[in-house]
Amino acid sequence: MKAIAVFPNKKEVGIIDHASPQLSLNNEVKIRMLEVGICGTDREICCFDYGTPPNGFDHLVLGHEGLGEVVEVGSSVHHLVPGDLVVPMVRRPCTHAHCMACRADRSDFCYTGDFIELGIKASHGFMTDFVVDEEKYLCPVPPGLRDVAVLIEPLTVAEKAIAQIWQIQQRLPWACPVVPGKAPGHCHRAVVLGAGPIGILGAMALKIGGFETFVYSRSPAPNMKSDLVESFGVKYISSENCSPKQLAEEVGQIDVVYEAMGGARLAFEVWKVLGLNGVFVFTGIPGFKAPIDIDADLLMRNVVLKNQVVVGTVNAGRETFETAIHNLGIFMQRWPDSVRALITGRYTLKDTRDLLLGKARGIKNVIALDSKKTKLS
Ligand code: BGC
Repeated sequence: MKAIAVFPNKKEVGIIDHASPQLSLNNEVKIRMLEVGICGTDREICCFDYGTPPNGFDHLVLGHEGLGEVVEVGSSVHHLVPGDLVVPMVRRPCTHAHCMACRADRSDFCYTGDFIELGIKASHGFMTDFVVDEEKYLCPVPPGLRDVAVLIEPLTVAEKAIAQIWQIQQRLPWACPVVPGKAPGHCHRAVVLGAGPIGILGAMALKIGGFETFVYSRSPAPNMKSDLVESFGVKYISSENCSPKQLAEEVGQIDVVYEAMGGARLAFEVWKVLGLNGVFVFTGIPGFKAPIDIDADLLMRNVVLKNQVVVGTVNAGRETFETAIHNLGIFMQRWPDSVRALITGRYTLKDTRDLLLGKARGIKNVIALDSKKTKLS
């Protein structure tokens, strides 16, 4: 079967022939990949800045934002049957006995760094026809989400960030007064940095959580992303014509900054206007660029004098995948056209090299592996 692979030593990216996997353990499931999203991490791996092939291989099969259909199950698989839709989790635990996180099935908080990430670090990914995995890493998806379920893995980034914001803010009286018809975050204001898929999905998640949400991004409005953001009732503000100081004047007290921009410069400027008791969550993974000057004294004063928390988050555990699946269903009830508009193109394996190496375009590009069944846009 065909797969998209990166060869870090040869610095090549291309289509390869890859052995079709077979079930070897009773708890395993074979899935036919239906769709795989392309993200910034994949593009970075294709610049050879990131990514590691599995032991014994000179290449890594890419793809970690997957949607598959179960085709075969081992004898001790209890919750999945052929025909079910599933989204595979990305991380697998390290093997160290002392890693409390991995031993507790929370490899997203692995202590050793020896975790595995499918399609990223030490294991092949999903940009191929079939994948075999253990049942416990496959999250069932309702059939009604078939056409947008490829957004679940990127949505887990936002859901894990928001869950942590609520946990962190238990340090103080933060719960909003209960108001019938309003979601728990209704008395707080959140700024999302960046209008890529992780930013837009984060804005949707914050909005259903009740937060008064603003998206702050570079491109001047109107543009495809600002139209999408405003289509679900969130205000889009461009950094081209509104400085971080003006942003704070417009928003008022900024309780949460959810960074999904992947660049440090603007993020650190916005940190300066984070409000009292505010939380700033970083999710972006910038490429290494030249060091920049930051106003470190001001930031340190603010963190202390304003009781701020700055936190980073990566990857997600099973519970977060389940929350993402549930909340994607809510997004689809409330804003089906906006959710669908996030996927700006469906392509075949043959187009993938160009999508990975060419100029970034659209919002979320997806490889449809069952192209016979999927109408490609
Ligand atoms: C993936 C995460 C992964 C991270 C770092 C992201 O693109 O969504 O699952 O942990 O990259 O490798």
